[in-house]
Amino acid sequence: MKRNGKVLPYPCRCGGTLVKAPMQVEYFGVDFGIREGHVCTRCGDEYLTDEVWQEVEDKAKELGLFGIERKVKVRKSGNSLVVSIPPEIARYLGIKKESLVSLVPTGKRKIEIEVAG
Ligand SMILES: [Zn+2]
Repeated sequence: MKRNGKVLPYPCRCGGTLVKAPMQVEYFGVDFGIREGHVCTRCGDEYLTDEVWQEVEDKAKELGLFGIERKVKVRKSGNSLVVSIPPEIARYLGIKKESLVSLVPTGKRKIEIEVAG
């Protein structure tokens, strides 16, 4: 990854320093190409620029997905933790009770849920 080393005026939430870096941007299965964003030199978290976010937001509106993100509380069932998937997201993903999903932690604070069947 090519970085020009310019330090940005705001820090990462981990307290690390952000530098500009090109990154592959993909949302909702849509490829936005390699765009310039900001990456933390400490934790590696990536941030998009406002301009790229605007593009992603426009695309989300076009696809009818705008504002579909939900915050849900983690609950407990036996020894497992349970995260509920709100109906609008379940509808979009085409998943229902007994659907099989695969859980992959993609970072210290990130998890990817892939529909497996
Ligand atoms: Zn960081």
